Amino acid sequence: MELPFAESYKMKVVENIRRSTREERSEWIKNAHYNLFNLHSDQVYIDLLTDSGTGAMSDKQWSAMMLGDESYAGASSYYKLKDAIRDITGFEYFLPTHQGRAAENVLFSALVKEGDVVPGNSHFDTTKGHIEFRKATAIDCTIDEAFHTELDHPFKGNVDLNKLETVLKKYPREQVPLIIVTITCNSSGGQPVSLANMKAVRRVADKYHVPVFFDSARFAENAYFIKMREEGYRDKSIREIVREMFSYADGMTMSSKKDAIVNMGGFIGFRHKEDFEKATTFNILFEGFITYGGMSGRDMNALAQGLYDGTEFDYLHTRISQVAYLGKQLREYGIPIQYPYGGHAIFVDAKRFLPNLPKEHFTAQTLAVELYLEGGVRGVEIGAIMADRDPVTRENRFPDLELVRLAIPRRVYTNNHMDYVAATIINVYDRRKEITKGLRILKEAPILRHFTVEMERV
Ligand SMILES: *Cc1c(COP(=O)(O)O)cnc(C)c1O
Repeated sequence: MELPFAESYKMKVVENIRRSTREERSEWIKNAHYNLFNLHSDQVYIDLLTDSGTGAMSDKQWSAMMLGDESYAGASSYYKLKDAIRDITGFEYFLPTHQGRAAENVLFSALVKEGDVVPGNSHFDTTKGHIEFRKATAIDCTIDEAFHTELDHPFKGNVDLNKLETVLKKYPREQVPLIIVTITCNSSGGQPVSLANMKAVRRVADKYHVPVFFDSARFAENAYFIKMREEGYRDKSIREIVREMFSYADGMTMSSKKDAIVNMGGFIGFRHKEDFEKATTFNILFEGFITYGGMSGRDMNALAQGLYDGTEFDYLHTRISQVAYLGKQLREYGIPIQYPYGGHAIFVDAKRFLPNLPKEHFTAQTLAVELYLEGGVRGVEIGAIMADRDPVTRENRFPDLELVRLAIPRRVYTNNHMDYVAATIINVYDRRKEITKGLRILKEAPILRHFTVEMERV
């Protein structure tokens, strides 16, 4: 008999979680104004809100924390992290930041100005937020295949080179400070970008002399997909693939809370000293001195180790197989989900799950609330609420896809938990015809409204 695959780690510390009743949840979600961000974590049984900062650190990471050097300037932890970043990504220069959006804030302060355009593949919400906050425009150049959830395509995160070139032809060089390629592409469903596409983006960018930065939160998961799906990479190690990926970029922003498996942290990597120096002033202003920039020494140590943990093939195989394990159960039941499965999450296609709900009722948010009521499972809406209003017309933006993302924390839940999640979704699917009314907004912020929005039942 062939030996089956099993997790590449065992448990040393556990945290209890508690089941609740439907009556309790009904009360709690009402008090939370139907915004899942407003729930207390102990009101949630299985928390798939995000895979950001929610991972379980390894014994090596915890032991590295004890060796943290908390010196204000020149801490050994800074140099340890610098060495790890150079080793894994190849970037010579880096600035630590407290998380990914802080890296965006610092980098864009140096590069982006009012009236600019920033092309990319489905910019992440904080990325877009930081671009629009500067009165610049994010232009989505993702391939069309990404927006057909059932269509099988190995690299749905790819940049459409024609769309990109159209943007670069239309705007003068001074108005395009950078191209951002998000790997994997969170907003289009945790979908990877191929190495061939990264190489091609580089070629187009060079033709127009525009720098390329990778939004790299899930770079290791992207490398795993390249190894498994792209011709010619099966025998390369994850770290070899990662090195080649970054060789096509001028720099990177990183939310270390994802693939570097720490609870807080981020950084910016730079190839060119001039870019690093330009951003340094903003880092000191917003984050902290260049050798800690928003991170404690112990956290930089854990991050340095996390970059190695997160680029181990066995770990990535464990993780991405678990995501697929959940996805397969849903797909076999006929539940509409983004396919192929994403690296960090399963994305339920809410429009096809609840086809009779008008979009003005916020389809994905309604479905996310139903999943919570059914089983205490917390996912997150990636749809009209998250899309915010148009900055000019102030009309609601209804995106092509209304998704509920079920993000799987790293090294946290077992496949039994995935079975529970699948059963929860299946139960809601069985009674989907009874769900004919959704939600309406009572109160919202002008930007990034999904975090604080207050809603009520229609
Ligand atoms: C999480 C994330 C960010 C922002 O990082 P934070 O650490 O949450 O501030 C940026 N881009 C992508 C693709 C992300 O997934």
